Amino acid sequence: MKTTGDQQLLKRINRSVLLRLMRAESGLSRADLSRKSGLTKSTVSALVRELVAEKWMAEAHAPVAVEGMGRPSTPLQLDAETRVLMGVEIAVECLRVVCVTLTGVVVSHAQVPLVSNLAARACQQTAQVVFEQCQQLAAKKLLLSGVGVCLPGAINEEAGMVRFAPNLGWREVPFLSMISTAFIDIGVPQVPIHLQNDADAAALSEYEFSTYEGEDPLIFVSCDVGVGAGIILNDRLFVGAIGMAGEIGHTILQIDGPLCSCGRLGCAETFIGSRALKTAKNTDLAGKYLGVLIQNLDVMFNPRTIVLGGQSCVNNPEVIDKAIATLTNYSKLADMPLTTVRAARYGLLAAAVGSAALVWHRFLRPMPVGKSAPLQQMVKNAVAAAAEVETKETAKVVPSLKPQAAEYVVPIKPVKRRGSPAKIQEH
Ligand SMILES: [Zn+2]
Repeated sequence: MKTTGDQQLLKRINRSVLLRLMRAESGLSRADLSRKSGLTKSTVSALVRELVAEKWMAEAHAPVAVEGMGRPSTPLQLDAETRVLMGVEIAVECLRVVCVTLTGVVVSHAQVPLVSNLAARACQQTAQVVFEQCQQLAAKKLLLSGVGVCLPGAINEEAGMVRFAPNLGWREVPFLSMISTAFIDIGVPQVPIHLQNDADAAALSEYEFSTYEGEDPLIFVSCDVGVGAGIILNDRLFVGAIGMAGEIGHTILQIDGPLCSCGRLGCAETFIGSRALKTAKNTDLAGKYLGVLIQNLDVMFNPRTIVLGGQSCVNNPEVIDKAIATLTNYSKLADMPLTTVRAARYGLLAAAVGSAALVWHRFLRPMPVGKSAPLQQMVKNAVAAAAEVETKETAKVVPSLKPQAAEYVVPIKPVKRRGSPAKIQEH
């Protein structure tokens, strides 16, 4: 049977639905997956067979007896022992690389000083470190599923471009094509490669591997040399119209304050950036400014959780305490409920782990970045294609596509993450 592009998309969507159900609740059987997804048992069986063969999913060892005369069911789980996601953070002063399992367990990591902030040299160095990690993975018989790269700058993810990275001195750098070439030249396996801003990636480290459910909206505030925020909104990374959302380091916290690297006066970065903290007499004031910053974010987004990370926070935990105290005070004054604020789970590895999470994030949402309207059309096309195939009685591969495709958002509901992909529905 000829498989059209639309059918391929639909199949990827159905596969991602099963993986997301599995991630939310390990140990589900094929029958459970069928019931929760709405896909037919035969479709689920076919997809699970593929996912197990490809090592995305694994069967738990002991079958579980079911009530009545039915056959024992076999619990399934994400394969957390074979596939690995790799994440790279190109920071201003260093390069971090991590490998994590599909469940977010760090299996290896490396950190080296960044030898040059020239983009071409940074690419070569990144490729070298990634290649070394790949050799270690091969020795352990682990399978690389993709590489995510993040850096401190405004990114056009779809085009693979770094628009502007002031602390690296980059502007309009075609980074994705450069790093892809460097990977091929050195012999890195050809896997999907993704690019994103460091704070955006860090937010994904908290969201994609979360043990906390329903943390949406989630805001990750990263206080490194630069200060930025990664925002998860409605189950998606919110990057703004041109990838500039979350540049909170250059929101003004004090009129006529210290001169910032951007040319303005009194930006947040001049108070809570890691360079500012190195010369600060005490960190108390920095904590207060961070508290003001997250109070403003709290009012703007009404998030469920704010996560604080980056060097300034990880190396000075008292800054986090002061920021929380400041936010608490503001909330009490306005008689508003307190938003959960906590430290980054992965500490200084947050952005690198988040880059790995970016690979997972995109794999589980098999849709073009920032193309919601065309995507709706793509799904409509997929439904129409499936209907046509069924009419011709040739839909052996995915027989349930027609009823499922129109409501493929439904299976996400049991995950209990707020902001399920209901966004696909027309407004
Ligand atoms: Zn500034």
